[in-house]
Amino acid sequence: MKYIQQIAIAVIGGDSRQIMVAEALAKLGAKVNIYGHQPDRFSGEIQGHAELAGACHDVNAVILPISGINDQGLVRGDAPGQMIAIGPLMTALPEATIIMTGSFSARWREVAVRRGYLVYEYAEADEIAILNSIPTAEGAVQLAMEHMPITIHHSRVAVMGFGRVGQTVARLFNALGAKVTVAARRREVLARAWEMGLATHCLEAGSVFPSDWDLVINTIPALVIGREFLARLPSESVVLDLASPPGGTDFEAAAELNIKAILAPGLPGKVAPKTAGALLATAIPEILEKLLSNGGDR
Ligand code: NAP
Repeated sequence: MKYIQQIAIAVIGGDSRQIMVAEALAKLGAKVNIYGHQPDRFSGEIQGHAELAGACHDVNAVILPISGINDQGLVRGDAPGQMIAIGPLMTALPEATIIMTGSFSARWREVAVRRGYLVYEYAEADEIAILNSIPTAEGAVQLAMEHMPITIHHSRVAVMGFGRVGQTVARLFNALGAKVTVAARRREVLARAWEMGLATHCLEAGSVFPSDWDLVINTIPALVIGREFLARLPSESVVLDLASPPGGTDFEAAAELNIKAILAPGLPGKVAPKTAGALLATAIPEILEKLLSNGGDR
């Protein structure tokens, strides 16, 4: 990769997957600074920094974790609950710096674009999202087994949303013998679910979604599992919400109604950090090289 080897990159925060990305970039010849990780966790090819500003000094690109930048300008750190304030950086980098992150909150995307940074949200790239859906779906199986009092086999499972995560989840639970119904708003999407041998329900205005589920798995990043639906669920039902926080469930109502509802973000990093890290370590350098070859370097 001829462009990457000419640039300096700051890799900030995240978990072990970020370290794998940093190692891959260093192997490709980039000068790599890292911030937010203990020195014994990365190789000598990477320069560790104790200060965020030091790690980002004179770099061409900044790689932030797949969990993204939240509205407060924070990204996840490696320690449980640790958050790193990235906000001040967003006005301190030179124009045309490439910033790659899983996702930006709308507010910070606007700040970055206004400042003239080249912004790339890699969690939305199909090549990452589709592969990332595999450990996500396996994590959903793990949680279902932990929280359901019955087998997945022959259980009644509703999968809400049939995008990249929904499709993999529906396929996996179907393969395990669950009776899967896919709920989505577009009929062409439901046609594919039907072709796969799954039952379907169209989430259109006025439709009443059945409620006889042992497990409801939500992948829709909007409030779709509301109080009325939760109130109709059997008391032993489990709701597994995979959509990014805050998820698509009224968790307050679920608690009041005594329905077990679990928000489960970041499953790939939890259930298969090595696989999830390897896919990022392959995809991010490829995307970055493409950005650089399109003139993203300065
Ligand atoms: P995606 O491919 O964009 O699919 C999203 C699905 O939600 C689509 O079926 C979409 O329908 C539907 N949808 C969106 N807004 C809707 C609304 N207002 N009403 C009804 N349906 C709506 O996204 P994805 O890659 O599958 O990711 C889904 C969610 O999981 C995201 O929040 C993502 O960040 C999260 N995620 C979580 C984990 C984890 O570890 N828990 C891992 C990866 C991703 P249309 O096609 O009609 O728009």
